[in-house]
Amino acid sequence: MALINEQYLKLPESYLFSEIARKIDAYKASHPEADIIRMGIGDVTHPLSETVVEALIKASKEMGKAEAFRGYGPEQGYDFLIETIIEYDYLRRGIHIDTDEVFISDGAKSDTGNIGDILSRDNRVAITDPVYPVYVDTNVMSGRAGNLLPDGCWSGLTYLPCTAENGFIPALPESCPDVIYLCYPNNPTGTTLTKKQLSEWVDYAREHDALILFDAAYEAFITEPDVPHSIYEIEGAKQVAVEFRSFSKTAGFTGLRCGYTVIPKELKGYTHMRGEVSLNSLWRRRQSTKYNGTAYVIQRAAQATYTSKGRQAIEDTIRYYLGNTEILLRGLKEIGLEAYGGINAPYVWLKVPQGFTAWSFFDRLLSECQIVGTPGVGFGPSGEGYFRLTGFGTKENTIKAVERMKEWSI
Ligand code: PLP
Repeated sequence: MALINEQYLKLPESYLFSEIARKIDAYKASHPEADIIRMGIGDVTHPLSETVVEALIKASKEMGKAEAFRGYGPEQGYDFLIETIIEYDYLRRGIHIDTDEVFISDGAKSDTGNIGDILSRDNRVAITDPVYPVYVDTNVMSGRAGNLLPDGCWSGLTYLPCTAENGFIPALPESCPDVIYLCYPNNPTGTTLTKKQLSEWVDYAREHDALILFDAAYEAFITEPDVPHSIYEIEGAKQVAVEFRSFSKTAGFTGLRCGYTVIPKELKGYTHMRGEVSLNSLWRRRQSTKYNGTAYVIQRAAQATYTSKGRQAIEDTIRYYLGNTEILLRGLKEIGLEAYGGINAPYVWLKVPQGFTAWSFFDRLLSECQIVGTPGVGFGPSGEGYFRLTGFGTKENTIKAVERMKEWSI
């Protein structure tokens, strides 16, 4: 008899996006002529750059030639990509990373989800709230989250609320967790930490022997000088932090799939007897057993994003998306709504007007403006009363959405 991992039974149905889809379908069925503007899902819309497409074609052709064909590659990624990443994402910011500290993957979702494999089930885990749901669900799966409470929190997790009241800056927890997930620039709030604010977390982790899992999937959207692009810009961070990066939002790779994780060799985990173990070696062991490498063709495409044409294309696309968030931020403020984020991230986090819940705001916005966003409560209890709009749509639709909201009497 095959027993299952019963932790999975604790997971509620993945309700958020299916419920949104259900509500849109129901609305469309009764209003077939409605011109619905979708600003809910966090997927990119711009196509791949020409440079990336050319690299894909070139690499695919190589695979068709006996002399250039590649089979299984190195599980942790090809040197050509690792060296390019180190040069552009780290060395140019004064950060020294060794080639065996970078692990190429099929994206940050897998890595942020799988990292728990090398960590004990006994760790106390802290998450910011609201949060990218993968951190929570994967901890539920591995038995670290305890049970779901009526208030929407998991009994075994420490929640670090991020709301307008604290400027979306999580307070350092009083009783120290072993593992802390931080995501900056943040999904869903679109807010960031300054270098000084992130330094406090690094110092805290060093003082308490905690591990920071730093998700920098939206790093490419940073526009303000005071915001760190990598946690390793902060002194001592290599001793306490793993960093996750992704080509998804940076270069439109949500469909291609490529990301990477940096695990410095000096970063240690502990056994129950307080013996020190290199997390880099554990992750290497994990990846070489469970992962067979990101496709060669995709890694060549990722490498192409660092050429001067590739970087220019990324810059243009990100400027376009951030142009949309600027339109949203300005429009929402003119309407008199409080809105946050959107400057260093493709997300605008809106406080719903008094008297609304996140879901009742969703319903009214859909039925009266034909605009779809994401109710903040879907990202955690502290997201109640908030709503996420994204800059990933077209400029025309973003302008249209703001105009509709301006004419709307809430
Ligand atoms: N991390 C955060 C915070 C995200 O918002 C997302 C995607 O929305 C991911 C990771 C997933 O990235 P990838 O496409 O590389 O798996």
